[in-house]
Amino acid sequence: MKFNLALTAACTVLLFNQTGLAAVSAPPFYGDPPDEHHPWGVHDGNRPQPKVVTPGTFSSEAQPGKPPSDAVVLFNGTDLSNWRLDKKEGPAKWLVRDGVMQVVPKAGTIRTREEFADCQLHIEWAEPKDIQGSSQGRGNSGLFLMGMCEIQVLDSYNNVTYADGHAAALYGVNPPIANALRPPGEFQVYDIVFRRPVYKQGQVVDPGYVTVFVNGVLAQDHTPLEGTGGHKKRSKPVPFPEKGPLVLQDHGNPVRFRNIWYRPLPLRASEGGTDGCLTAEATMAKRKQIAANIRQDADRLTDPANPAPQLLRLLESLAYDRDEATVEKVTRMTSAYVQGVKQLPADQVGAKKDEVKQVKSALDYLEKAKALPPGFGPQAEIESLVKAQHWDKKS
Ligand code: MG
Repeated sequence: MKFNLALTAACTVLLFNQTGLAAVSAPPFYGDPPDEHHPWGVHDGNRPQPKVVTPGTFSSEAQPGKPPSDAVVLFNGTDLSNWRLDKKEGPAKWLVRDGVMQVVPKAGTIRTREEFADCQLHIEWAEPKDIQGSSQGRGNSGLFLMGMCEIQVLDSYNNVTYADGHAAALYGVNPPIANALRPPGEFQVYDIVFRRPVYKQGQVVDPGYVTVFVNGVLAQDHTPLEGTGGHKKRSKPVPFPEKGPLVLQDHGNPVRFRNIWYRPLPLRASEGGTDGCLTAEATMAKRKQIAANIRQDADRLTDPANPAPQLLRLLESLAYDRDEATVEKVTRMTSAYVQGVKQLPADQVGAKKDEVKQVKSALDYLEKAKALPPGFGPQAEIESLVKAQHWDKKS
């Protein structure tokens, strides 16, 4: 079903964002309405604006880039205060020098003090320039997301090893799509998107995924997690905790790290997020909440001398929730509105043309969306008014 109502910019609503500043958004009664799996309409003017993030800068070999404005910085090159030993209490005893942290062999694997889960993670690392060892023995480290599954760090530049153990492998599970490493000594950049597995009543509803870019080249493409991965053993799906640390591995090689930050990600629909394709139950709950907010906003517009703005806003709420009390209220308001226009002196009626047509368009939209009871009385009243005034004729 298409909803192609030609509405003028005049009926564009003013919405109030979180800062209280009015912002021009899309007109109401515009795109396809909410449905059983989407609480928002298409091009929905009531949908919240995306949050504003000031982007960072890219890194060069000489200098790490600046993180985006909303990033949580885990290592900024100065100290290890955000880090501790992984397996026991105690400070992280890796070397910090010239803006980087470096594995001190046998000082132990380290973890962030902070715990988190779904994230966009940025981390840069470099191998020692003087090559030592081969295969898994060459520049091995790794990062464990939530302390659970390892994205391998290895000097994979001209180094043959098993495919699922290369740099950017989901270790023991999936090799990288490509080996896009720079030579040892140069910084490599990982940009990772991580989603933990979601279980409900013991059943997996989302296996969790990891996407990895290495120096801007895609290495893991929304790869499903298969549990924790691991060495030699076939990994099996398991639930993860709610959150966990980022762990950096001491595998005995002096690998360097810098510029480590993450951004938490919003909830997926399967976890109660309200963007995307939702269950029928979650959709209806969200639609009711949106409608309630719009009704509250409509209260703000109460003005007996100028009832149309409040009426239009209340009509808008019906696209989300055909609330009986609201239907009764708009029935009364629309009838009273039509009567009010009819009673205007002849020379004042013309000024109401656009407004009346807006109300009519809203009712037509809601009828198509099945958001009005069948045979909604005031629709006939407003239609007869439009016809009587010849406002249905193209001028
Ligand atoms: Mg490793």
